[in-house]
Amino acid sequence: MTVTELVSYDEALASYDPVMGLEVHVELGTRTKMFCGCSTELGAEPNSQVCPTCLGLPGALPVVNKVGVESAIRIGLALNCQIADWCRFARKNYFYPDMPKNFQTSQYDEPIAFDGYLDVQLEDGEVFRVEIERAHMEEDTGKSTHVGGATGRIHGASHSLLDYNRAGIPLIEIVTKPIVGAGERAPEVAKAYVAELRELIKALGVSEARMEMGQMRCDVNLSLRPKGTEKFGTRSETKNVNSLRSVERAARFEIQRHAAVLSSGGTIIQETRHFHEDDGSTTSGRAKEEAEDYRYFPEPDLVPVAPSREWVEELRGTLPELPRLRRKRLQEEWGISDHEMQSVLNAGAVDPIVATVDAGAPADQARKWWMGELARRANEDDLELAALPITPEQIARICALVAEGSLNDKLARQTIEGVLAGEGGPDEVVEKRGLKIVSDEGALGTAVDEAIAGNPDIAEKVRGGKVQAAGALVGAVMKATRGQADAARARQMILEKLGVEG
Ligand code: ADP
Ligand code: MG
Ligand code: ZN
Repeated sequence: MTVTELVSYDEALASYDPVMGLEVHVELGTRTKMFCGCSTELGAEPNSQVCPTCLGLPGALPVVNKVGVESAIRIGLALNCQIADWCRFARKNYFYPDMPKNFQTSQYDEPIAFDGYLDVQLEDGEVFRVEIERAHMEEDTGKSTHVGGATGRIHGASHSLLDYNRAGIPLIEIVTKPIVGAGERAPEVAKAYVAELRELIKALGVSEARMEMGQMRCDVNLSLRPKGTEKFGTRSETKNVNSLRSVERAARFEIQRHAAVLSSGGTIIQETRHFHEDDGSTTSGRAKEEAEDYRYFPEPDLVPVAPSREWVEELRGTLPELPRLRRKRLQEEWGISDHEMQSVLNAGAVDPIVATVDAGAPADQARKWWMGELARRANEDDLELAALPITPEQIARICALVAEGSLNDKLARQTIEGVLAGEGGPDEVVEKRGLKIVSDEGALGTAVDEAIAGNPDIAEKVRGGKVQAAGALVGAVMKATRGQADAARARQMILEKLGVEG
């Protein structure tokens, strides 16, 4: 492998202006495939979810999945696109064993949705508009596993295994218009766009859009043009980038690589590239000259898709609040700063907090637990917050116990610990571990008497009017009760017993 020469990022941006195009594939979460009734459930035995249609057997006929079309239209509408009155599927012909039909059913010059935009918010709060060229429907391919080579790639493999369970799962491909004017923030815009799109897809409920599971993947097209010129340069296309961070890194790397090639008098060849997670580099894939001619033509086995305007309007009515606007609303409701909101977002805590508030907890309390104790635990166990074995309802219950004075923060933390350890719900853990605050006069009174008796000097000071000194006696009571005393009540009793007004 040749080492790629780079120029520094700042140097690249001093001479060139980046132009980007992002192509995002989203696997829809429909129950069945796009053109047959096979299940889309993940994790099944290879080739157990196949039929004559998705295996491309002669004579088998496809039927369009209505939920797939509905999802495509809802995505299109959420992206402010026009929805076609009439459009068709097309055959994209190629021979490769991952698609046993020898063509992929896709859309070509008649996409279901086109001409839209998505506003994305950058870290400094600025909103950048990304124009959408089209969103079209297609199907996923099967999965090949190359066996016997060192790299898992086909080169050097002794044989390949094919699993067609994925063949025919509905995909929506969303393609941006060339993104210009982002300048040095192009990589940040790329990441913010994919992040916003992922939130939108999740909010629509059409896919879980988990990038690490390949449910959403991004091709990053990038070119440079000399600053102050209009004409686009030749682009490279980095394929199947699989995380938000990688999208940003891939764009950044390509800017530096293109700049190095161009500034040394070389030419960029139009090609696909592979991204490497380990060092953030890209390497050459296939050149555009080698690319096949897909001989697209309209799919004769499927009727055109002609969504009525009534249906489109009905679907428009099902659109959720846009994620960006929802975030803004929540931030206002919770009364927190941009910085605090950003931490909540980074921690993936928005939905858990919302659910906890919905279950009756005050927002500041819900945020305190999810961003504190629970974030720490999730981080330790390398889990997402939502995957912790505690529910928002349980956190809300713990907040209620604190509010009514049955628990203090320390006891609440122990209750959470017990729930996470599988000891039961909050009330059960409080019961089993005996975590209730000690506030009954008898038990607390004994502890207070002991604290006074054990610290005569301090008690004397308090009697003499140094009321602040009572803190040390409260500390002794807390220690004796292993933190379970009602501190405020203990203080009150100490002052009473020493004959001082509180
Ligand atoms: P292909 O299928 O060959 O990849 P598409 O037109 O579907 O082509 O997608 C190309 C993507 O790259 C689109 O997002 C487009 O806006 C963008 N693009 C086109 N030309 C350039 C260029 N010169 N530099 C950067 N991006 C480009
Ligand atoms: Mg492409
Ligand atoms: Zn099938």
